[in-house]
Amino acid sequence: MPLNFIDNQAVRSASSQTLPVIDPADGQPYDTIERSSAADVDMAVQAARRCLDTTWSRLSAAERGRLLMKLSAKVAEHADELATIEQRDCGKPTQQARADALALVRYFEFYAGAADKLHGDTIPYLDGYSVLTWREPHGVTGHVIPWNYPMQIFGRSVGGALAAGNTCVVKPSEDACLSLIRVAGLAAEVGFPAGALNIVTGYGHEVGDALARHPGVDHISFTGSPRVGTLIQQAAAERHCPVTLELGGKGPQIVFEDADIDAALPFLVSAIVQNSGQTCSAGSRLLVQRGLYEPLLARLGEVFRALRAGPPALDPDLGPLIRQTQLERVRGFLDQARADGIATVAAGHVMDEVAAGGYYAAPVLLRDVPPGHRLAQEEVFGPVLAAMPFDDEDHAVALANGTAFGLVAGVWTRDGARQFRMARRVKAGQVFVNNYGAGGGVELPFGGVKSSGYGREKGFEALLGFTTLKTVAFRHG
Ligand code: NAP
Ligand code: MG
Repeated sequence: MPLNFIDNQAVRSASSQTLPVIDPADGQPYDTIERSSAADVDMAVQAARRCLDTTWSRLSAAERGRLLMKLSAKVAEHADELATIEQRDCGKPTQQARADALALVRYFEFYAGAADKLHGDTIPYLDGYSVLTWREPHGVTGHVIPWNYPMQIFGRSVGGALAAGNTCVVKPSEDACLSLIRVAGLAAEVGFPAGALNIVTGYGHEVGDALARHPGVDHISFTGSPRVGTLIQQAAAERHCPVTLELGGKGPQIVFEDADIDAALPFLVSAIVQNSGQTCSAGSRLLVQRGLYEPLLARLGEVFRALRAGPPALDPDLGPLIRQTQLERVRGFLDQARADGIATVAAGHVMDEVAAGGYYAAPVLLRDVPPGHRLAQEEVFGPVLAAMPFDDEDHAVALANGTAFGLVAGVWTRDGARQFRMARRVKAGQVFVNNYGAGGGVELPFGGVKSSGYGREKGFEALLGFTTLKTVAFRHG
């Protein structure tokens, strides 16, 4: 029964209440986490503040980087153990669980190396003046992490925050806490000072809300649904606390008639199948130029029919979804598609080996989805690909930009000028040309426009978001 991790100690919640940890592969509880409350958040924020004031702010950037590098190495040593924990907690197929652990290694490594390369500027000003800018940490940062890629999202969030000199209080999703509690323990083992990295588990509306409202939190990073993003923003607005929001997407894969289909096909499939489609940057809309529409759907249909959802340990194409309500959500979308006469091109299948009670969904390829339909507008967060045809570039751009989201887009064409035009015209935080990077790219700044949120995570850019700029003007004559 993993406990909260505060001040480098495993501690029970103030209420001593627990929540069950459920295995998505069979729906059975196998462990517990703490059901924390505002009192536990307060304890963690105070620990983070103490650490900031007494220890963390006294370390040089190089020393912070060195600690992060040690943590990266420690996580690498424990990658198999962490992948095993994650597999059971989140239902991830073996390769995905391992990829997540290795991504965490890379995030800590990247931000370890970046910590002492972050600096301000000197600005030419009036005669007799010298003006400097300093990049200062916000202070205590709050991190609300979702369940789809706990280790990856934790890595990009706290990796950058710690490198930039902040201390952290983390609220994982109640469905995905175990790996992160273990990593916090590893951080203590490699010498992170008490209070630098704290984990408080529990419900979003209790612990997440308390974190967003806490006056001692100087910055909030949130990844999750637009609905909760709004709540976080509202809570933070009360005290003008800066936030970074990553709120998902409805990623278009735009395939022109001149595309290299053999090269595109595996990316088109993995962009919606990876992590059972529970990916904010999933390529969940397939926009295909009319002349290629039927042949491409025929080829994709063949692939979809061969896809298998099954027990995570068998490393199938897809594991179970995270929880019963997520399965119901996906089924609800598919029921609606059926009721509205949207045709299915092909579906994969759920393996016979699955345990009763697991949250399995077979992948589905839908065709001619009307652009205004829910299936083309809302995040399903499941393995459902919505295909629709387009006529020309203008039409493709209108469809691609025709949702509330703007996170990631893919463009497939051999025409170099069109590659540039499309990359410019598509409204998204990331555009991939002749490749697709759902979930990838530690080095690549990532984030959205419109309802996908704002602020950037990943890459060096994220460090800027974890600092505030102070301008210092000296008059010396
Ligand atoms: P969610 O409610 O937005 O959860 C994301 C995180 O926010 C979790 O840690 C959650 O904690 C926490 N949270 C929930 N209510 C909160 C509140 N009032 N104040 C502060 N924090 C709060 O997302 P979900 O319900 O798990 O998933 C629903 C849909 O959101 C998905 O189907 C998908 O469309 C989208 N989603 C997007 C992403 C993404 O990567 N962009 C990730 C996850 C979900 P608890 O889980 O402990 O309640
Ligand atoms: Mg779980």
